Amino acid sequence: MNLLSFKGGIHPPHSKEYTENKPIKTAVEPSLVHIPLRQHIGAPASPLVKVGDIVKVGQKIGEAGGFVSVPIHASISGIVKSVKNQSVLGGSALTISIENDLKNEIHESVLPKGKLEDLSGKEIIEIIKEAGIVGMGGAGFPTHVKLSPPPDKKIDVVILNGAECEPYLTNDYRLMIENPEEIIFGMEALMKIFNLKEGYIGIENNKPEAFKIMTQAAKRNPGIKIVGLKTKYPQGAEKQLINAITGRQVPSGGLPMEVGAVVNNVATAAAIANAIQSGMPLIERICTVTGRGVKDPQNIRIKIGTMINEIVEQCGGYTDDVGKLIMGGPMMGIASHTDKLPSTKTTSGILVFTEKEAKIPEPSACIKCGKCVEACPSFLQPSYISAYALIDNLVMAEKYNAMDCIECGSCSFVCPSKRPLVDSIRIAKREILEQRRKSK
Ligand code: SF4
Ligand code: SF4
Repeated sequence: MNLLSFKGGIHPPHSKEYTENKPIKTAVEPSLVHIPLRQHIGAPASPLVKVGDIVKVGQKIGEAGGFVSVPIHASISGIVKSVKNQSVLGGSALTISIENDLKNEIHESVLPKGKLEDLSGKEIIEIIKEAGIVGMGGAGFPTHVKLSPPPDKKIDVVILNGAECEPYLTNDYRLMIENPEEIIFGMEALMKIFNLKEGYIGIENNKPEAFKIMTQAAKRNPGIKIVGLKTKYPQGAEKQLINAITGRQVPSGGLPMEVGAVVNNVATAAAIANAIQSGMPLIERICTVTGRGVKDPQNIRIKIGTMINEIVEQCGGYTDDVGKLIMGGPMMGIASHTDKLPSTKTTSGILVFTEKEAKIPEPSACIKCGKCVEACPSFLQPSYISAYALIDNLVMAEKYNAMDCIECGSCSFVCPSKRPLVDSIRIAKREILEQRRKSK
């Protein structure tokens, strides 16, 4: 098989053996969910319900706060117990708490949206928007925004990311094995939006079973090509995936649409299929709960808003030597000091390291070996950007294209001096953005 790839990148241990052969299990109904109104990039949603209201599954409980925003829906039926600020990953957000009545009553608005062939591209985008769909690979960018480029940007290639290059995570892998038809349907909907006859689904070659099953499922539509990708991190990053599949290079500071491409995750495609076929908005997702710090690692289908500690409990709970909790994978996930947080649309993984695994080695001086430059898939000079970031010289950090950093962590992974490269660059990026916002 001709395997496609990109320049740069690294080969961290896959560590997928904990969960790759575990079929998706459905979590028990939570007695209470806490649904944040900010679960995506862009403006938070505003509440449509108040304390005491009775809500049903799939009911819209938060209205989108603008174009770059999405509505939020109830993941269970029951009574609204509170609408207040609560802790979420990385801060706090207005959150709607619902007590489960265990009736699982579906809201009247949840209805199939008709046959795909009868829907226009515009109607499909509207369905996606109203279903509150965001990128489910972790970034949480509102999908309808991605699908609405300005008129001068012509999209001629649609790509689905089935690489799941992040170590430990296997939720996309299990979805491809267990629900390939949904993904293919979602891909057809995306192709219809842009009136395209062809689309690509990229899968890394460490997932032969998924490749086989997806190839079989795609047979019904000869325009959908399942393409093999070299197993390399970060193969699933948008720009790297576009480059591997089409050979096109997204320019510095540019978006995929600049080269006529739209990339979505396979789980996002499945959510689109669900929104069209059953009319159910995005109220649940598959999450990989994994690592040596959890007793019974699983791929588990959770209702959005279920607390992280309750999800871990359903996977046997923690071992006695827990050292670190990460939301997402080890490369791009976010560490959390607490598990008393609600799950969201982007909770792709809950990774638990033991104390020994969590120990951070002391950084030493840069020896100018250049390994970080070689590994950087964005062709940056991480050592320079980081050095400027650490002395707060944002002008120079920006000059060295800090904003092109995709925060993949490849540079930190290969650095023999264990320099805090990605962490310092990430902070610099936030500060540059903040400065830009203020100067506007
Ligand atoms: S500089 Fe950014 S994009 Fe480059 S390797 Fe480091 S984290 Fe990845
Ligand atoms: S990999 Fe580490 S030691 Fe080598 S040049 Fe980059 S920052 Fe310096």
